[in-house]
Order: sequence, then C-alpha cells, then structure tokens
Amino acid sequence: MKRQILFIFAFCVIFQPESNAKTYFVAPTGNDSINSGSISSPFASIMRAQQVVEAGDTVYIRAGKYLMNENQISSVQRIWAVVHLLNKSGQEGKRINYWAYPGEKPVFDMSNVKPENKRIMAFDVTGSWIHLKGLEVIGTQVSILTHTQSECFHNEGNHNIYEQLSMHDGQAIGFYLIKGSDNLILNCDAYRNYDFTSEGGKGGNSDGFGCHPQPGGTGNIFRACRAWFNSDDGFDCIRAAETVTFDHCWAFDNGYSTEFKSLGDGNGFKAGGWGLRKDFRVPEKIPMHIIEFCLAVGNKANGFYSNHQPGGSYWYNNTAYQNGTNFNMLNRNAEFSEDVPGYNHVLKNNLSFEARTFDTQHIDSTKCDVTYNSFTLPVKVSKSDFVSLDQSQLTAPRKADGSLPDITFMKLKKGCDLIDKGTDIGFSYKGKAPDLGAFEY
Ligand code: CA
Ligand code: CA
Repeated sequence: MKRQILFIFAFCVIFQPESNAKTYFVAPTGNDSINSGSISSPFASIMRAQQVVEAGDTVYIRAGKYLMNENQISSVQRIWAVVHLLNKSGQEGKRINYWAYPGEKPVFDMSNVKPENKRIMAFDVTGSWIHLKGLEVIGTQVSILTHTQSECFHNEGNHNIYEQLSMHDGQAIGFYLIKGSDNLILNCDAYRNYDFTSEGGKGGNSDGFGCHPQPGGTGNIFRACRAWFNSDDGFDCIRAAETVTFDHCWAFDNGYSTEFKSLGDGNGFKAGGWGLRKDFRVPEKIPMHIIEFCLAVGNKANGFYSNHQPGGSYWYNNTAYQNGTNFNMLNRNAEFSEDVPGYNHVLKNNLSFEARTFDTQHIDSTKCDVTYNSFTLPVKVSKSDFVSLDQSQLTAPRKADGSLPDITFMKLKKGCDLIDKGTDIGFSYKGKAPDLGAFEY
C-alpha cells in the first residue's frame, strides 16, 4: 500500500504539467459575469476566458451549441466584424490552449451573426503560440452583395496550431492565412461551404483552406486536412510569397454544390499563382510549394493546379482521380507576358487515373523534372489496380486522435504494377521502392 501511494505520488510529481499552468472552462450554460471559470463554475465565452489566461494555460470548452449573436462581436476593424479576437499570445513551450474538453464537441453556430456590410470572422487569431483544438464552426454568414469573403478561422500570428477543427455548412472560407509563419493546420475538415450571397451567388471565394502568406511567412504546413464541396477551391495558395506545404491532404468535389451544380473555380489544390500581370506584390523569389501524399478526386476543374505560377513546385506521391484535369502545371512566364507550359516543376511518384479530360496538361518536360509517375512510366493504370473506388469512404469519420480514417479507396491491390515503381525521394517506404500515389502498399 505504502509503495503504491509512493508510486502515485512520484507519478504526480513527474507528470505534473507546467507547474503553475492553470485550467479554465467554458460551457454553453456558463456565465461570464459571475462565474470563476472552474469546471463547476464555467465561463460562457472564449473571450471571457482569454481575459484571464496566461502563457501555458488551457481553456477547456465543453460540449454543446454556442449560438453566437451580434452582441458578441468583439472587434470591428474597418470592413471586418470579428467575433472571437484571439490576440493574447502564449510563449515558446507554453502555448495558450483552447481545447474541446476531451471527448466532447463544442459547436459554434454563427448563423445569427450577419452585420450589414461587414466581412465576418468567427475566429481572428492575431496572437502567437496558440493551440486551438476540437472546435466546430457552422453557419458563418456573408452579408455583403458585392465582392467579399467571410472566414471561420483567420490567422495572422506565428507558431499556432489549428487541430481537429471542423468548418462546415457556412458561406465562409474554412481557414485563411495572410500573415504569419510556422503555423500547423492539422487534421482539420472544411466542407459544404458555399457563399450564395455575394456576386450573384457564384461561390467564387469560399475555399476550404486558403494560405497566402506575405514575405517572411515561411513554414506554414497543412497536414491531413480534408476539403470537400467547397464552392471555390479545396486548398488555395494563390499569392503566397513563401512556400506552403500540403502533406497528406484530401480534396474532393470542390467547385460544386452538394447537388453538383457548378459553382466557383473548383480546383483540389491550387498551388500558387500571382495573377496575369506583375505588380508590386510579386516577390523577388517565387516560392516553390510542396504538395505531397495528397489526394484529389472529382474536383470540377483541376486536381493539382499550378495556376499561372511564375515558377514550379514540388509534387510528390499524389493521387488524382476524375478531376477535370488531374495534373495541370500551367505557368506564367517570368515576364508575366504570357502563359506557358509548366517549367521548373518536380513531379515524382504521382498517380493519375481516369481524368475527365486530361491526365496531365501544360508540362514542358524539357524544363521540368518529371519522372517515375504513372504518366511517364510504362505502366497502365486500370480499375483492377485498386482495392476500392468507392469515393464515399473519403468522408468517413476521423479516428479518435483526429487522424484520417483508414480507407481502402485507391489503395493499391496486391500484385498491382504500380507498387515499387516510384523512386526514393527521401520518404520512408515499404518494399523495394516507393509506390506510385498517396498510399504506400
Ligand atoms: Ca480560391
Ligand atoms: Ca513500395
């Protein structure tokens, strides 16, 4: 008995998190004016919790619906109305955590927040060293009829983590970054976001994930995120001045409504682009984006698209199926005078199957490094190469830790000739060599 107590004591001492880190609670039944923020006396809002947190503290957000209203707009900055302005930073090694209480699902319903002539942000994160986890945002509105956009999560800080967030059934972009470096967007889902209000309801601005860092905004990574039925693109990094990495992300059915009505651009991964004319914002050094182990399926336009980028990107081990064009490497020349076939791209170990129009388009293979892809090797891709082509698997629930579901969709069948046909580019693999596509056999 004594030994047991000693052991428990030792355990507590060793595993005590940050010694003076505090924990607060927010609940739909909470109260911001009289409660202390303890588990039995929770706050009602994240904004109230932000007033008391310090670096290293954790705010647990309890399950239930948080029906936001316009009285809760915490900041109006020029054209923006921000509901949650997270402007208090943590520190290196001491993030401020805003986490769903373990096993619970807090849902922020933004459908009643529609101030006139304002762009709406559900969460504007200008602080750094912040970790948001397990929050769901629904019904974010657009109230402006001309060119505009609203956003569920907007990042301007550095070293933030956005994890297991779900942004859906609204009119806004799911996640949007214009500033900041070293942010990780992990295991997030953005789906069925369609701006049917502005510009005649064409839905041309609602991307699942947008990443458009200014110069200095390096090290932003999207990992294991999914985007589907967003009215514009799944993942978009047009006008990104620094490299953006998309790793193990899935984009499908973007550019369509759920009834497959044609809406916005509809690219799975729109990797870069600076418009058709050179302006003062074009960086001196054009970044090469990294798109690896990603899956693009059934997107209206292109699965993987370089969008007139005046330079190439790295495309490794991606799988594309039934997009308009699966891999479209269209570039702009360095003088911005005309579009040209893709140059300076590196494409390796990619897999293309049954594009609706073209497997690949606009690749100048004399100016790119394009080898070991299904479309450059003497292999034939057919239905019989895959365990399953049942796309409905892609929306399966995530695992408890937030990681992507285990699926058989587009996994290679035993004995299929796409196994071990890739080349070693520094990632771990099984068998003699890497396989083609996003899923190693
Ligand atoms: Ca877009
Ligand atoms: Ca292999």
